[in-house]
Amino acid sequence: MGLSKTIWTNPTEYLRTMQPENPVLFFSPQALQAQAKRFIDGFPGLVTYAVKSNPGEEVISNLAAAGVRGFDVASPFEIALIRRLVPDAALHYNNPVRAKHEIAFAVAHDVDSYSVDSASELEKLIAMVPAGREISVRFKLPVSGAAYNFGAKFGATVELAAQLLARVAEAGFKPSLCFHPGTQCTDPAAWEAYIRAAADIVAASGTTIERMNVGGGFPSHRLNGVVPQLDATFALIDRVTGEAFGDARPSLICEPGRGLCGDAFVLADRVKAVRDGAHVFLNDGTYGALNELMLIGVIDRTTVMAPNGQIRGGAPVPRIIFGPTCDSVDRLPGEVMLAGDIAEEDYLIFHGFGAYSVATNTRFNGFGDLQLATVLSTKL
Ligand SMILES: *Cc1c(COP(=O)(O)O)cnc(C)c1O
Repeated sequence: MGLSKTIWTNPTEYLRTMQPENPVLFFSPQALQAQAKRFIDGFPGLVTYAVKSNPGEEVISNLAAAGVRGFDVASPFEIALIRRLVPDAALHYNNPVRAKHEIAFAVAHDVDSYSVDSASELEKLIAMVPAGREISVRFKLPVSGAAYNFGAKFGATVELAAQLLARVAEAGFKPSLCFHPGTQCTDPAAWEAYIRAAADIVAASGTTIERMNVGGGFPSHRLNGVVPQLDATFALIDRVTGEAFGDARPSLICEPGRGLCGDAFVLADRVKAVRDGAHVFLNDGTYGALNELMLIGVIDRTTVMAPNGQIRGGAPVPRIIFGPTCDSVDRLPGEVMLAGDIAEEDYLIFHGFGAYSVATNTRFNGFGDLQLATVLSTKL
């Protein structure tokens, strides 16, 4: 995806001037760096970035410039990407199932920390990773609060986690714990449950931990009525860690993806047609940058803009929105409230769209020519 060298004032200036027929993601480096500083200043520990949420080189470089020095990586490709862009960064390989060739690649690239959630995968690490490295046991709880459940695939039970932690220490590695409360987790109570369970796991294991990773899951601003309470969440994590661990308090790591990159981007899609005055067809859909809406639901932070840059102010009407491909799956979930005077060739703008958008965009059916434009501000 090409990044133009021109820096535009805001998305409106670009849309009015360029009249793009392809979907455009507007990126504000200033907004990204400001959000990184918010995390670095506010989170009571080390801030790392989950590369999968948006692996764009402009994202990685701006996070590094803002002071992010650690990255959560899940594959040899992501390891190589970070080693190239931020050579001295700490790499946390937090994908708990790895082929042997992937472990060998990580060892050769000096990965600092590995997560694990099963006995078989732990034995693979013990056999291949130099002793003394950190191995972090990932556990899960049946708690809610997130947009969807991250425990369905990864995470040991509390009982297994205590056994794995003991085995990590016995084999000569640094034991640690990690969890992920689920993405877009708007209920800070999820972290409280996990941190208290972590203290129980450590007690049951007979070991101590120097560090604990409290995951990603920090929300971005997706819904008008749900503004992320980052500072309150940081304060809760700090307080509960102190209460649960007392004198044996571990240092903390977080690994946000969406919470860091989401609000630094705005997506603009063009209306191809309003079919017989009812269904809205976009030049982008669930095979493109809107893929994630199928999983975590529609976003209501949207704006309809006429080709001349005017914001449409018609009374909102519920609409079915289809993407451009010939696949009937290519439809946004439910109905979306859009300005009633929306018209063909307008732009439908989705705010806070930096996470899981460019990363999952495909060229299915010949669509998905997603372009990136740099703006000073994502405000329209
Ligand atoms: C995806 C992922 C993250 C980032 O999740 P967000 O919800 O985007 O913050 C962090 N850690 C791990 C292990 C992940 O798989």
